Amino acid sequence: MKQASSPVTAALLAQLSAVVGADHLLADPDRVASYCTDWTRAFTGECLAVIRPASTAELSQVLALCSAAGQTVQIQGGNTGLVGGSVPASGEASPPLIVSTLRLDRVDPVDHLTGQLTAQAGAVLSAVQQVAREAGWLYGVDLAARDSATIGGTVATNAGGTQVIAYGMTRAQLVGIEAVLADGTVISHLGGLLKDNTGFDLAALLCGSEGTLAVVTAVRVRLHRPHRRTSLAMVGCESYDQALELMSRARSQSDLVAAESIDAVGMQLAASELGLASPLMKSWPLVALIEVADGGDASGLPLTEEQDAVVALEPGEQERLWAYRERQAEAYASLGLVHKLDISVPLDQMQRVMTDLHSILAVASEVTCFGFFGHLADGNIHVEFIGPESTQAALQRAILERVAASAGSISAEHGIGRLKADYFSLSRSEAEIDAMLAIKSAWDPTGLLNSGVLFGDRT
Ligand SMILES: Cc1cc2nc3c(=O)[nH]c(=O)nc-3n(C[C@H](O)[C@H](O)[C@H](O)COP(=O)(O)OP(=O)(O)OC[C@H]3O[C@@H](n4cnc5c(N)ncnc54)[C@H](O)[C@@H]3O)c2cc1C
Repeated sequence: MKQASSPVTAALLAQLSAVVGADHLLADPDRVASYCTDWTRAFTGECLAVIRPASTAELSQVLALCSAAGQTVQIQGGNTGLVGGSVPASGEASPPLIVSTLRLDRVDPVDHLTGQLTAQAGAVLSAVQQVAREAGWLYGVDLAARDSATIGGTVATNAGGTQVIAYGMTRAQLVGIEAVLADGTVISHLGGLLKDNTGFDLAALLCGSEGTLAVVTAVRVRLHRPHRRTSLAMVGCESYDQALELMSRARSQSDLVAAESIDAVGMQLAASELGLASPLMKSWPLVALIEVADGGDASGLPLTEEQDAVVALEPGEQERLWAYRERQAEAYASLGLVHKLDISVPLDQMQRVMTDLHSILAVASEVTCFGFFGHLADGNIHVEFIGPESTQAALQRAILERVAASAGSISAEHGIGRLKADYFSLSRSEAEIDAMLAIKSAWDPTGLLNSGVLFGDRT
């Protein structure tokens, strides 16, 4: 933590403390440490202090005070983001105040008439899922960090996850939002009307803005009817083309709930690092997880004679199969600092792009381990590699340029954050970035929120 060296800073901290109470303005280096380093451990920075407001009104006062004092702010939810956007940059001359949303954690009961619910931004995803489930509904976004990631964080990053093929990304779930602008102004539109063409859709704009425009304080989301039963198959495949063909056949016959992939390295790491030995008869270049719903039956997937597969119908058995995919990030993390990219490519380009990415990493002699897993149905692959910091940037650029050359995206779901700010223009034109910057300067004219995130040096 940076010391409150000037009288101005000391006065600001005293005012902030009066708003939230001394217990919720953390200044002790030991207590702020976990807020200053991200989940990947690749990003770490200094903060002025950490503040934990308990209501939208408190958060509004906090931002108004910061705005008046010219104090920069770093917004943080569950700190599970994977692109460095949730923590301060290192070496900042004037470190930001970290605003944690974790005390804004109320989830309202389901409104059965509309099939919607309202939750405060700091509620963790699993709490939102649970309230929906207990009322007989389903929230359409799910991801492995569900017990720590907040609903506000998933909105700020437009999170994807394993159910996108069935329900869409986070933006598709949003029907209302409440947020606080940099100067403390509260904007609130939580009514949840499905038909409401009164001007700009600010919820859609804030979704995916990575905390550069405002602090999201509450969201109204649509819910879905859960499937009565699903059927999940883990299938060994020779290639992405074969896995995609299988997925396409499953989709033409039944409702596809999910289609994920893990390569041979990931399956090997699941065994060696997590003790999850493969349930398949042999090692395959690629393993596909394909889940279909209700009338569908994953055991009816058209396999070749050589392919082997296991099928799970019971929730407990399905959870065991899902663990191979959901615990991939954990398996790689056990090897040390992992460089991560999350890309998406058009499905008809996938095999070629993945072959080329494999070649790029295979010839890099300093890379000690690399592999791919991801959301097959969405063309979204997570690229993981381990190697010295010195070669990371060159490899990153080579991979992202290859993806962009096939009309892919350099960020399928994690966002740009700090990690990919220098590569933003590989996926978006200068005209598009200028249009985004114009919105940024209208909403946050002095650049107080999440400085450096998304736009890098441009803000
Ligand atoms: C094991 C693991 C698995 C994951 N799987 C997936 C996956 O399948 N799909 C996926 O999309 N992501 C995945 N993630 C990434 C991460 O969980 C998501 O990006 C999630 O949305 C981050 O939520 P958070 O609350 O942790 O946000 P944080 O990490 O705290 O913040 C992320 C960004 O959002 C901003 N932000 C946070 N809260 C707010 C707010 N209330 N208002 C404005 N800005 C805010 C932050 O400033 C930062 O820029 C995974 C992460 C882990 C560790």
